[in-house]
Amino acid sequence: MSDDMSASERRELRALEREHDRLLAEHARLRDELDSHAADLGLHSQPPREIALQFEQAAEADPDERAQNLNEAAGYWAMAGELERARRLHLAAIADGGEVAGDARVWYALFLLEYDDALAGRAMLDTILAEGPDDYAIYESVAEAFEAVEALEEALHWFEAGLARQRLIGDDGAEGFGEYRLAIGRSRVRESLGLPEDADDRWAEQQRRSWADRIDRRGSSSARPTALSMFYLPEEEFDAAMRRWPELRNQYDSHVEHRASVESQLREADSGLSLRVSAAGVAGLAEYAAAHDRDPLQSNTRAAYAAELSRLGRDIAWPPGRNESCWCGSSRKYKKCCGRPT
Ligand SMILES: [Zn+2]
Repeated sequence: MSDDMSASERRELRALEREHDRLLAEHARLRDELDSHAADLGLHSQPPREIALQFEQAAEADPDERAQNLNEAAGYWAMAGELERARRLHLAAIADGGEVAGDARVWYALFLLEYDDALAGRAMLDTILAEGPDDYAIYESVAEAFEAVEALEEALHWFEAGLARQRLIGDDGAEGFGEYRLAIGRSRVRESLGLPEDADDRWAEQQRRSWADRIDRRGSSSARPTALSMFYLPEEEFDAAMRRWPELRNQYDSHVEHRASVESQLREADSGLSLRVSAAGVAGLAEYAAAHDRDPLQSNTRAAYAAELSRLGRDIAWPPGRNESCWCGSSRKYKKCCGRPT
């Protein structure tokens, strides 16, 4: 420091330097926090080709999941612009004959529709429609693909066929989730087409309203929560949590079961609430429990921590769009992961 500075100037300069260091440290801390949160959610922005390669490796490693993983890889190669490779893997997934959520032929047909040969894609879809599959997600995926390219008549046709199929096969064991999804989609497309409201449109609207009424009847307690943010441990954090708190094993069978339970509780939750998922980490939970003198082994502590993450804006809305990344961090699309019918 130069000699012509007064003592007070030197103090001021040192204070500024400390403040500068503090801001830098705070900046680094916030960046780390964001990074670790993104990692929790599986959102590290990997390029599609890297994800495609990972799914290809997974396909080689596990014969039981080969078809599903080839199909996933195909989707990411298409996103990366490698259409020939995408086509080859779609065909390999079909030839494998193993289970693929939503039918491997549907994903190939949608690929043809979007990138390659729309006529052949439509012909395949006609064949599949004629077979009358039971899975509501097939109808919804195809209808949404047509909706996305403004082929509204075809979108409506698929929503109606799916709705008719769901009603024919009866309860799908998911509280009518499929029927409801298809009715909502159908109403949306009918509205875009300017069609007058019909009985099924009213039914879809009723479903929405009946939930809202139920909430109103429950009284006007101002403490009534308006959001439900579910506590969720992504796979790596789940394993770490079981190592850190072995007694938790009594409460959770496996990560797969934990993930499925979060999805099903959200599906059954009051739809008048804003539904969200708080992906939690072991370090954060331990810190929260210590700070509030609570026991992380108690489920209400974990629920309170999820609510805290939600207040801090560190949760995500549920459900994601069907073509968006799944909330669970698997890097699959929601419709091919936790959004599959139960
Ligand atoms: Zn998932």
